[in-house]
Amino acid sequence: MTDGADPFDFASLITAHDAGNYADAVVPPIFQTSLFTFADYDDMIASYRGEKVRPIYTRGLNPTVRMFEEMLARLEGAEDALGFASGMSAISSAVLSFVEPGDRIVAVRHVYPDAFRLFGTILKRMKVEVTYVDGRDEEAIDRALPGAKVFYMESPTSWVMEAHDVGALAALARKHGAVSMIDNSWASPFFQRPITLGVDLVIHSASKYLGGHSDVVAGVVAGSKELIARLKAEAYPYLGGKLSPFDAWLLIRGLRTLPLRMKAHEAAALTIARRLQALDIVEQVCHPGLANQLPPGLNGTSGLFSFIFREGVDIRAFADHLKLFKLGVSWGGHESLIVPGEVVLQQKAQPNSAHTFGIHARSVRLHVGLEGTEALWSDLQEAIAVAI
Ligand SMILES: *Cc1c(COP(=O)(O)O)cnc(C)c1O
Repeated sequence: MTDGADPFDFASLITAHDAGNYADAVVPPIFQTSLFTFADYDDMIASYRGEKVRPIYTRGLNPTVRMFEEMLARLEGAEDALGFASGMSAISSAVLSFVEPGDRIVAVRHVYPDAFRLFGTILKRMKVEVTYVDGRDEEAIDRALPGAKVFYMESPTSWVMEAHDVGALAALARKHGAVSMIDNSWASPFFQRPITLGVDLVIHSASKYLGGHSDVVAGVVAGSKELIARLKAEAYPYLGGKLSPFDAWLLIRGLRTLPLRMKAHEAAALTIARRLQALDIVEQVCHPGLANQLPPGLNGTSGLFSFIFREGVDIRAFADHLKLFKLGVSWGGHESLIVPGEVVLQQKAQPNSAHTFGIHARSVRLHVGLEGTEALWSDLQEAIAVAI
């Protein structure tokens, strides 16, 4: 923390912005406006000359968006943060701020599929090469990093949930002079604070746990003032993926319950993962909390994991019989969701569609929501009973 506050005092971090609200409103008002007018000519020219920092146009600065950015920076223990229209906008703007043609990126394998596709299309055309390495193999990362401009992490990784020693990997990136970034959407700052582990930039799909109510698509990047200034200089204004005031307002609402939601997701998902692991018809459960210990710096686990059925289970019947778990992408909201791996593997032609992201055809990804552990477990048991 830059201000010496207890990094785990989420209550005061989340409510730090409550003072000074209009009319002592318990919920801050939204600045739902595209532009801000000037008092007079001198006021306008002072702003244009940069003598005065004030909102001018919402693509540049909006007080509601800024409030969310400051809350998120505090939660991540970062000096600054910048909101985006989506997680992908945050990822593309962060990466594009640090590479030019001829540069190389090292990424851990099994990153979020659309990040992989960004690297394989736009970045490839820009002549930026991406090398993928198993993030659990620190020697291989150390060998891959020399000469790389960016080290891109996600821990745990999408679907297969490979969890890394984020602090150790960040130290390797620093040793080799690469800017390190991590997609921290899965753990949220409640369970993992990568800046405090030495990572340079933390990226979120705020559409997931930060929002928490499945009603926002948004993203955010947190880091030092210096690195965030790099994003603010070109990628943010010119690619234009700004966060809307209304979405920022919904995110401020969502952050207030982040600790409570994360604890509930953790407890329900761990119970269900352990019970699935004990079933004969389950071959493997991919959940970082089932290992003897979590990697250093990961202080808890969330509601998203996957498991692999043994051969012979009718996954279509299983999926169609579930009542509480709905078939649906995304995750991080109150509701429980499933995605069958065999469906994802049949996704129509995408760039690099031969790539499987480590997804097993008999796997199922679960997001364990807030409906209640026993009700969710009954739902799974009943669906399994008709599928075997
Ligand atoms: C959803 C997701 C993203 C992309 O975020 P959007 O808000 O959908 O653009 C990035 N990383 C991970 C791990 C995700 O799950």
